Amino acid sequence: MRNAAIFVLCLAFGVPLMAQTQSSQQPSTDLPKLNRFDASAVDQALDPCNDFYKYVCSKWTAANPIPPDQASWGVGSNLQLWNEGVLRNAMMEASKPDSSRTQVQQKIGDYWAACMDEAAINQAGISSIKPALDRIAALKDKSQLANAVAALHKEVPGAWQGDNNASPASLFGFASQQDFNDASLVVAGVDQGGMGMPGRDYYLSDNPRLSDVRKKYQEHVRKMFVLAGENEQQATSDASVVISIETALAKASMDAVKRRDPANINNVRSFEQVQAMTPSFNWKAYIAAVEAPAPHHYVVTSPDFFTALEQLIKTEPLDHWKAYLRWWTLHGNAPYLSQAFVDENFDFYGRALSGAKQLRPRWRRCVQYVDRDLGEALGQAYVEKAFPPSSKERMLTLVADVKSALASDIDQRDWMSPETKKNAREKLNAIEDKIGYPGTWRDYSSVKVMRTNLAANVHQATVFEFKRQLDKIGKPVDRAEWGMTPPTIDAYYDPQLNTINFPAGILQPPYFDASADVPVNYGAIGMVIGHEITHGFDDEGRKFDAKGNLRDWWTPEDAKQYDERGKCISDEYTAEVPELGVKTNGLLTQGEDTADNGGLRIAFMAMEESFRRSGKSLDDKGPDGFTARQRFFLSHAYSWCTTWRPEVARTIITTNPHSMPQFRVNNVESNMPEFWRAFSCNPGQKMVRENACRVW
Ligand SMILES: [Zn+2]
Repeated sequence: MRNAAIFVLCLAFGVPLMAQTQSSQQPSTDLPKLNRFDASAVDQALDPCNDFYKYVCSKWTAANPIPPDQASWGVGSNLQLWNEGVLRNAMMEASKPDSSRTQVQQKIGDYWAACMDEAAINQAGISSIKPALDRIAALKDKSQLANAVAALHKEVPGAWQGDNNASPASLFGFASQQDFNDASLVVAGVDQGGMGMPGRDYYLSDNPRLSDVRKKYQEHVRKMFVLAGENEQQATSDASVVISIETALAKASMDAVKRRDPANINNVRSFEQVQAMTPSFNWKAYIAAVEAPAPHHYVVTSPDFFTALEQLIKTEPLDHWKAYLRWWTLHGNAPYLSQAFVDENFDFYGRALSGAKQLRPRWRRCVQYVDRDLGEALGQAYVEKAFPPSSKERMLTLVADVKSALASDIDQRDWMSPETKKNAREKLNAIEDKIGYPGTWRDYSSVKVMRTNLAANVHQATVFEFKRQLDKIGKPVDRAEWGMTPPTIDAYYDPQLNTINFPAGILQPPYFDASADVPVNYGAIGMVIGHEITHGFDDEGRKFDAKGNLRDWWTPEDAKQYDERGKCISDEYTAEVPELGVKTNGLLTQGEDTADNGGLRIAFMAMEESFRRSGKSLDDKGPDGFTARQRFFLSHAYSWCTTWRPEVARTIITTNPHSMPQFRVNNVESNMPEFWRAFSCNPGQKMVRENACRVW
């Protein structure tokens, strides 16, 4: 996901598999069949009150094993393939050289042609990054580090993004962002980064599972240096330098739980203060090199990180920094280099970190790159094919219903004072919804796309995107901008804009199904809508006001009441997962868990209201023998049915703020009396939680 905002709260995991490729054969244009909720998936031999996730998902997961090129497989996976297939077909069509192509077709078609030309990519070898490596080799002293990092940020995809992204920034992150105190202001954000593994625990934890990955990482870094032409001895020593620098950065980094509190990362600094944190890093040279406009001020997420960085710059010799910069140049570009680099990159990021057994076909990788680099050009083709105006209409109704359910839920909370309720309602009323795709498409006319050179296209698009991000500094906030591309299967709440966002990619079966009945849609997409709205009122989101400013609008007593209910959630979601050898951290996932619980509850309330309006009963049985209230919960659980390889499950549990699917179903449902009633579950049964948690 491309979004500079630190605090965008989304629905799903967002752990993309890294660089993979297999074959440059033209792929077929077939599209897979989408999974739709079907009550026959349920294993009625099992007891829904014992393990509801298993009751709904075990038959499906047994019949749908994880394909070798995947790290996980779920009911939404065919939608992923379907979305990618729609994009692939559009690009194959656009790639036919034809003088009548539109500018958008030329760009996506030629990018596709260059990306699919595996022979040319292999022949180019490492030549595309030779100038960058030469520049690093020519560095004469550490005062030039600022220019070298600026070059990485400008040229390597995502290298400027901070620590909240799947691939963290090279050394540190630098981007535009809305100011926390005044959401109308776009300032410059400086974030921690610089780690090639997904989080600090991978560097610092004693857990044998993680230290095993650490060993594999060091070996991976060494092999990448060898591929780039270093001798064995040099590569071994450079790899240990990289690990040592990254470990020092990991130690200095703020941990993910602490980062969840916006107060901790809201450190307003002047330019002079930023420079004073790191006297050995020439910020003036960096800013000039990336051509960033002068901001009103800087927001430094993690000052301690930069204090430690200063020590590192002082103590590590120039040669060590050269090795570090070489590694990040190789690492960031590996997916676009020849096969040996792609394979080695897959071996660590695909196999060791995610547990995938096999490379994904090249066409899927190419779809992923064009979506990232020219997403709102490619997205136009998706919307045309897959998102009719009727879907948008229906979504608008669903969103309005779920919003008014939260309004009445707020009214009913007996622990909130009238004053806080008034502020909460004001915030809820101010939430803007964006559905499907942006009103105005991004203009990529300045991105030069060539038919013959993948690396050059990636480079061009990266320069464009980084400049686009930085150009926002000092300008009015663009409220219409999207942080996800239209085909994305995800959704998000943006607390600083106070918007909920549902890309067209998730408004498809099994999440949104125009042919399905009311309970099925409320259980799946209704819960997604509820989840995003609830993010405005989770333990992070509640700290922002209706305008997106970080401002405390709670009475002290109400805040205390809230925290008690929040603690119930974080305690409930903290548990050993014996089969994986790791422990979940309810403090890391508290916001998402709160959104899951609140989201399903208000979706249920919205469904009740819709039934009241139509005069139907929730207890009437459908042709499948289940009542409407049962179908709501079945559809919810079904939309999460997924199997994970243990490697990626561990990565998610260790670093990701979302809980695993079985908890997203069983913990939520077992907290809900509405569920107990639907399936006649009794106290003492596992799905009836004795200390059921409820925030919303
Ligand atoms: Zn979320």
